[in-house]
Amino acid sequence: MPSGHMKFTIPTLASFVIAFTIAFSITASGTNTSTTAPGAEEWPVHDMKRPQPAMVNPGLTGTAKTPGTAPSDATVLLGAGTGLKHWNHGGWKVDADGIAQVTPGTGDIRTKESFGDCQFHIEWLVPADRECDGQAGSNSGVFFLDKYEVQILGSNPNQTYPDGQAGSMYGQYPPLVNPCRPNGEWNTYDIIFTAPRFESDGSLAAAGTVTVIFNGVVVQNHSAFMGITAHGSKAKYQKHDPTGQIRIQDHGDPIKFANIWVRPLGERTLAW
Ligand code: MG
Repeated sequence: MPSGHMKFTIPTLASFVIAFTIAFSITASGTNTSTTAPGAEEWPVHDMKRPQPAMVNPGLTGTAKTPGTAPSDATVLLGAGTGLKHWNHGGWKVDADGIAQVTPGTGDIRTKESFGDCQFHIEWLVPADRECDGQAGSNSGVFFLDKYEVQILGSNPNQTYPDGQAGSMYGQYPPLVNPCRPNGEWNTYDIIFTAPRFESDGSLAAAGTVTVIFNGVVVQNHSAFMGITAHGSKAKYQKHDPTGQIRIQDHGDPIKFANIWVRPLGERTLAW
């Protein structure tokens, strides 16, 4: 009868729409990190009952002369009074203002906590008296998941292979441009990192990506890593967890760092 037909049709249609939405969102992003998480609440367009985004104090923007401060909801990894308590390290120096410096030869430092998809901020300075000679004299880098490097290198002035310049995805992509400040001035990186995803058989489901804003200038635009950072060879992927430590490199140069913070990025909820 008609009412029975309706009772059958509406749930079937609704089920189809939900299944299609989930399938489309998974397909569109390549992994299940879509705008609509399965089972997440959905909202009508312009629904006033939809929760307001949390208020965040954005902190202060760093300048060439003075490091900035972190947004209020960030995990501050290095700032005034933090020391190096968030890092495993072998003897790097830090002062009360939260300016840390590589102690050459003591090794890379790694966060005690693990992070995956995130927004990451770091400010770095090459001491004014350092001579930059290609990869020598002013080298460091940030490694996400302990594996994927965004290069730090004094690059004003400095000539080196472009895929090893400041703002490069080391050994893969040069920065789009070179907005590096001279030695003795602070540089900022604002980085959005998405971890790669793997299938259960170890094959790559979605490449890791990175967007890098260097002193306010985009130098990597959602660029896909070709694999785990390698030196002198083509990068390849190897299955790993979607989270890991963030590492800062001791390449033998006394680079300074300040105002390091991270904001883990969760999934979003789509309207309708
Ligand atoms: Mg490096």
